[in-house]
Parts: sequence; C-alpha cells; structure tokens
Amino acid sequence: MSTRPVSRAPVLVWLRHDLRLHDHAPWRAALGDGRPAVPVYCIDPRHFALDARLGVPKAGPFRARFLLESLQDLRGRARSLGGDLVVRVGHPETVLPALARAIGATAIHAHAEVTSEEDAVTYGVATALQRDGIGLRIWSGHTLVHGEDLPFDVADLPETFTAFRRVVEREVTIREPLPAPTALPPLPVGLDAGELPTLASLGLTEPEADARQLFVPRGGETAGLERLDAWTWTADALRTYKQTRNGLLAPNDSSHFSPWLALGCVSARRIHADVVRYERTRVRNDDTHWLVVELLWRDYFRFVAEQEGTRLFARGGVQGLRFPWRDLQDADARADFERWTTGTTGFPLVDAAMRELRATGFTSNRARQNVASFLTRVLGIDWRRGAAWFESWLVDYDVASNWGNWQYVAGVGHDVRGFRFFNVYKQALDYDPDATFIRHWLPELAHLPPALAHRPEQSREPVAYPAPMVELHTAAQANERRYARIAGGGSNGASNRGSSPRFAKRKA
Ligand SMILES: Cc1cc2nc3c(=O)[nH]c(=O)nc-3n(C[C@H](O)[C@H](O)[C@H](O)COP(=O)(O)OP(=O)(O)OC[C@H]3O[C@@H](n4cnc5c(N)ncnc54)[C@H](O)[C@@H]3O)c2cc1C
Repeated sequence: MSTRPVSRAPVLVWLRHDLRLHDHAPWRAALGDGRPAVPVYCIDPRHFALDARLGVPKAGPFRARFLLESLQDLRGRARSLGGDLVVRVGHPETVLPALARAIGATAIHAHAEVTSEEDAVTYGVATALQRDGIGLRIWSGHTLVHGEDLPFDVADLPETFTAFRRVVEREVTIREPLPAPTALPPLPVGLDAGELPTLASLGLTEPEADARQLFVPRGGETAGLERLDAWTWTADALRTYKQTRNGLLAPNDSSHFSPWLALGCVSARRIHADVVRYERTRVRNDDTHWLVVELLWRDYFRFVAEQEGTRLFARGGVQGLRFPWRDLQDADARADFERWTTGTTGFPLVDAAMRELRATGFTSNRARQNVASFLTRVLGIDWRRGAAWFESWLVDYDVASNWGNWQYVAGVGHDVRGFRFFNVYKQALDYDPDATFIRHWLPELAHLPPALAHRPEQSREPVAYPAPMVELHTAAQANERRYARIAGGGSNGASNRGSSPRFAKRKA
C-alpha cells in the first residue's frame, strides 16, 4: 500500500494509438488536478508475431520503424517539458497493473479503442486493475467527430457513408483540439524510463532505402505537425486537394497524413483546425472541404468497427455474404496470391502498386482500391488475406480503415452496391495516362512508350515481364456470376442480406 497522501498519488497515462501531447484528453485529465502523471507505452510482442498463414509479421518493418521513431520523438518532447515517457516491452495486462502497484498509482487514463483485439486487452487491464482498486478511465479522442457528439447511437449508424456524412455535416460541430501541456512533472524518483527496443530485437530488419520512394514519413508528433504545415501552408496543396488526391505518385497529390493519424501523432481535430484557419485566411472551396470528407470516411470506418465487432474480420464480412472465396490451402490460389504480393500478375497498375507497397510501406488510395479489387473481384481470393497482407506492410495501417476498406471493395461491408470491380486497364489510362507511375515502379517497362507500358503483352519486341495471369473480364465475370447466385439471382447484392446475421439483427 502506498503511504503517499491520496491527492499526490500519481496517475498513469496509457498511450496506445495517441502518441502526441496535443489534443489529448487522458493527458489533460491526468495533469488536471496537479498530480504526477506518468505516461507509459507498452510494446506488445503480440503485434510483431508472425502470421503463420502469410509468413509475415503482423506489424512489418515500416510500421515498426515508424512506431519506434514516434516513441523516440514523444519521449524527447516530454523531456523538453520536464517529463519523460516510460516504455516497456510486454503485455499491457501485466505491465500496467505491476507498474501502477510499484508507484502507487490510483488511476489510469487512456483513449478508447473499439476493435476486438484491442478491446480484449483493455478488458484484461481493467480486470487486473480492479483487483487493486485502481480505476481505468477511458476517453474519446481518435475521431474527428467526438464520440459523444454523434447524433445517434453507434448501434444505429447509417448504413451508407453518404447518409452518415449528411447527418454529421448538418448536426455536428467539430470540437477545437485541446491544447498541449506546457510543462510535465518528472517521473517518480527511482522509476526507470526504459530503453526503446531496436527493430532487430523485435525480430525485424531495417527496411532498405529505395531511391524511388519520393516521400519518406518520419514517425512522431514533431514530423507530423511539420507535414501538416508543409503540405497545407507551404506547398499550398489543400487548395487543389480534391483535384489531385487520386494521383498515384507525386508526394503532394494527397496529404500523406495517414501514418501520423494511424498512430495518433497528429489528431484529426488538429488537422481540421488548420483547414478552418486556411479557409478563413486563404481560400474556402470544394477542395478544402474534401479533406474533411475524407477524414469523415476515417470516422465512418471507425464507427462501423465499433458497431460490428468481430464481423469486421469475418469471411462473410458485416453482410455475412457466403461467397465461395478461394483460399490459400488451395495450391493454385496460393500461387495466384503470391503473384499478387510480389507484383508479378502481368497487370502493370497492380504490379507497380504492389511493388511500391513492399518497397516503401505505402501506396495511394487509388492504387489500394485497384489491387484490392483485383485480388477479390478478379482472382476471387479471400479478402481477409489481402487485408492481412496490408496489415503487415502498410506504414499507416489502421485496423478500422484497413479492414473496413477491404470489406467495402470486396463487397461484403456496408454500402454494398452490387458486383463492382475496377477495370485496371481503364484505371491506368485514367489515372496514369503517361504510365509515369507504372514505369517508375516497373523497371522492365521503363523503356516502353506509355501505350505499351500499359499493355506490354502487345509489344512486338520481347519484354521481360509476365503475361497477364488471367483474362481480366472473363475472370471478373465468372466471379460476378458466382456473386449473383449467392445474392439470390440478382447482382445488386441486396437480396443477399436477407440471410445475413447483420440483417437478421436489424430486422429483429
Ligand atoms: C484496401 C484499402 C486499405 C486501406 N487501408 C488503410 C489503412 O490501413 N490505414 C489508413 O489510414 N487508410 C487506409 N486506407 C484508406 C486510404 O487509402 C488511405 O487513408 C490514404 O491512401 C492515405 O493517404 P493520404 O494520407 O495521402 O490520404 P488523403 O487523401 O490525403 O486523405 C486524408 C486522410 O483522410 C483519411 N482517408 C482518406 N481516404 C480514406 C478512406 N478510404 N478510408 C479511411 N480513411 C481515409 C486518412 O486518414 C487520410 O490520411 C485503405 C484504403 C483501401 C482501399
């Protein structure tokens, strides 16, 4: 039992996907009544475990490096204000109660998580703390729309993004970001802040620098706020965002805020505050508004995740769709999946994006949509394998955005509108007419004129590049027929929902 007077007993701030000082309710609450606040981050070895099916770690080298950089940066920022950051390697369920006991903490403050694995950890921590009479206080703060400001219960989330956006834009005022603390208390005497692990100690290898990567994000609040400033104000890129956001290559075509948002180095409300200031002082147009719309997509997937629980990860998705996905125990499907992951499908747009992902941890939204559609709609492979591949490689992996977008593209999520697939030939012509992106990432096509870089199989000269692994339309149409059969004879997908657990729940 601690002998400190209750009012001076420390409190813990448990950091998870919120590695920042600004706009941080747990920090504010912990510091609010003048008690020593001790921030702690647990590096959970489960996050780096190998996915046995795919042979890759859940969090791959790009994301892990970004995480370590973010922790280093937060520690530096905390130290410059008189505080520090405690880092431990271990399961939060054991680390946090032990730490709380050791320093006599009376409470823990943390931001909410909504997905099943994260929830299970929260539950484990809360249960362990309860035995010592220590409270766990959870705060909302990941989304643009504050959870408590939603004009409906999450259980009644609108079925489509458009409906969600309409209500939110009409009825919700986005809150101002909370200010960052200006001073922090030192750690309790004798408490070791702990060493940051290395990538090698997490079983990972430092990614090799690739000169073709035109934008390399550095982890941490400092770099995140710099990117916000550089992209919005210096490059003045917000002014034209809606027109450029589908670009595949140029670093300022889209904001690249995603890795910092995913780890919470910058809050969505902090970005929103800059948009508002920009609109007041420079220009207010469709482009400035569209960045907010995209941030609302991020919110939507988060609320979907909260609403749907483990259905976010189910084979049939939130629709409970019984599509006969091919899976990796089948040797042909495994070979096809490998061609997809290695960027050797013979479809230049898909291959360029998949090689970019592996070389950099990033590929654009347009490219993600195309490769996800290709895997699920053309190759008919279980969408969860693609989502898990992205989970490992993406520097900006965010559980709700990733699994939600995969469900959406695979046609098993919210907002199903029949069997739609991306014609990757047309998409390449529309979004990469000069084959700049394709030739950037596929050296074997770099010497070809754009028309042949788009269709290398039509070259009269031999090209050291694989022939298309399938005939695009034939393969997609076969899947469309399968889809139509399980959707009850129509391909609009609507009747399929009649048998889904989700629809049954709604009807009940
Ligand atoms: C199959 C698939 C998987 C995806 N996985 C992830 C993921 O793991 N993490 C992730 O952050 N995004 C994911 N996205 C969404 C989107 O591709 C990225 O957010 C975007 O490419 C990041 O680049 P940006 O920051 O330059 O985006 P910008 O166009 O500048 O958008 C600004 C911000 O809005 C949000 N946003 C934009 N589009 C979306 C969207 N479709 N869904 C959710 N949020 C969006 C992001 O936070 C983004 O940083 C995925 C999309 C697809 C199709």
